Amino acid sequence: MSATVEKHVFQAEVNEVLSLVVNSLYSHREVFLRELISNAADAIDQLNFRALTEHALLGDDKELRIELVRDAKANTLTIRDNGIGMTRDELIGHLGTIARSGSKKLMQALTAEQKKDIALIGQFGVGFYSSFLVADSVTVVSRKAGSDETWVWESQAKGEFEIRSGDRRTRGTDVILHLKDDAKEYAQEWPVREVVHKYSDYVRWPIRMEVERGAGDDKKVEWQTLNQARALWTRPKSEVDDAQYREFYKSLSHDWQEPLAWTHFKVEGAHELTGLLFLPTKAPFDLVDRRKGGVRLFVKRVFIMDDAQEIVPEWLRFVRGVVDSEDLPLNVSREILQKDATTRFIRKQVVGKTLSLLEELAAEGETEREVDGEQTKVRRYEQFWAEFGRMLKEGVYHDLDARDRLAKLLRFRSSHDDGWHGLADYVSRMPADQKSIYYVAADSLPTAKASPHIEALKQRGYEVMLMTDSIDEWIVDALREYADKPLVSAAKGALDLPETDAQKQKKEAQQKELAPMLERVQKALEARVKTVRVTDRLTDSPACLVSDEAGMSARQERVLREAGHDVPLQKRILELNADHAVVKKLQAIADEAQFADWSALLYDQALLAEGSLPADPAAFSRRVAALMAGT
Ligand code: ADP
Repeated sequence: MSATVEKHVFQAEVNEVLSLVVNSLYSHREVFLRELISNAADAIDQLNFRALTEHALLGDDKELRIELVRDAKANTLTIRDNGIGMTRDELIGHLGTIARSGSKKLMQALTAEQKKDIALIGQFGVGFYSSFLVADSVTVVSRKAGSDETWVWESQAKGEFEIRSGDRRTRGTDVILHLKDDAKEYAQEWPVREVVHKYSDYVRWPIRMEVERGAGDDKKVEWQTLNQARALWTRPKSEVDDAQYREFYKSLSHDWQEPLAWTHFKVEGAHELTGLLFLPTKAPFDLVDRRKGGVRLFVKRVFIMDDAQEIVPEWLRFVRGVVDSEDLPLNVSREILQKDATTRFIRKQVVGKTLSLLEELAAEGETEREVDGEQTKVRRYEQFWAEFGRMLKEGVYHDLDARDRLAKLLRFRSSHDDGWHGLADYVSRMPADQKSIYYVAADSLPTAKASPHIEALKQRGYEVMLMTDSIDEWIVDALREYADKPLVSAAKGALDLPETDAQKQKKEAQQKELAPMLERVQKALEARVKTVRVTDRLTDSPACLVSDEAGMSARQERVLREAGHDVPLQKRILELNADHAVVKKLQAIADEAQFADWSALLYDQALLAEGSLPADPAAFSRRVAALMAGT
């Protein structure tokens, strides 16, 4: 075979990641070993899976294992596996680019300060590139299972890598690290042993290393297995400590941060199943667009597939972990999974266990946790909600079976105080005469809080949920009620506030007395409003706009329009505050042109107060200027 050496340049994002890794002062640089061992274990998993149907792939090399080979003289540490291996093209593709979509966008979005945080770039799947935390040169020698070609990849992380053909007698991959001067300890037995123990003890394949024992003539070299080589999830909970769960999560998810929480469960009976599911602390950058889930499927300890979307509903795509089924056939494919009744059972378990974990977190008080490098007291559920609340809302919308449990897990801001509140909290605070749960939606919290629509509610001492997420109103529409209390928008329909006979009579009298004026306003604003009526929502503002009970709110319309939908303009109802000085003045205006101007002003002002823009801002400011000038 020719000894030609091809030079390739790294994709730009890889260069950025590499320069971060090479220059980083990351204090836990020993994690490189976790990342490389995790890649090796994945490669063996893949081979093991393929060998189920292609027995010949195993050949004579049946004992699947990872070997760590130290050479103190040459200053190298090799991570060797007899897994699936890589072809020439795979070496170039996998170790020269970052495949994850969106990584480019994220890299550009990160500030210089954020880029110093190597934990953040862990999200890119820097896995393999973390070799350069300890090595100044890395050689990868690989032979794909079933192929007789060996290829070598080599790089000093200086913008390019080399590819040449090589020599390796059996399938698998060697990652040879030429250790930096200050990382020579990784060619020694004890530092390597310690790191494996700390980060990779749970790895399901044996990790073996040659060690010297005895002294003088008794000195002998023997292979030892450094780990327990039993899949972590198959061990009883009592035998796994928190640190092991955390490390397992990190290697599984390639997230360099601690998980927020996890649930480890076994289901016995008609179907048997073991699962270990994690909630990340931070959402990955591509969570919203990404449709992939992060749960790996195993059948009787054999790895079957990554991202088994069939067993995890889309709205739970932030969950990471493994599910190991005793019932599915080993040759299960995506097509079989889609049809198999066991899949539905597994999916139900995944949803149920995750919801139980979330319910536990929601019921938990403050705990001591590290946030951005500092110990602080936090409520884990609030941390979770801030990162993943949106996904649960998707669940309310799409998953009828989970809706009731999810409704209890929803959190909103409220007029009660600045914290997050669940609907159950709200209901527990409702005064006896209050029949409905009230909410108002706006683009920002200050706009929601100052919304004219909630003035009368606040005056009565009714709490109002403040909804600022663009999908909130759809979620509420899907829910309709909570604990038999209807969810009522402060900006739609009639509020049906309990009123005394005196109040009722006063309103009726006002409506009657003001009828001619209401009609004049209606005429002046004919193109824009459906009707004009006396309000019971306002105390301080002169006017507000409301939608029909069954109609869309102005904000919903706007959100749809911004998303590119063609939504016809809906005429709304203009409500006037009969007790307001402006309305009283309006009544006294005889000049029709002036009356029309004032009506238009009232209307535009109502738009502004709810956070919408007047259709003709220039006309609005002209009218205000004229008013100020007294002309
Ligand atoms: P990730 O593991 O998150 O995909 P890495 O940068 O660690 O990112 O690895 C990139 C890819 O290179 C892997 O997805 C895998 O396809 C391939 N790879 C890495 N190490 C090995 C190995 N030891 N054997 C086979 N393929 C490997």
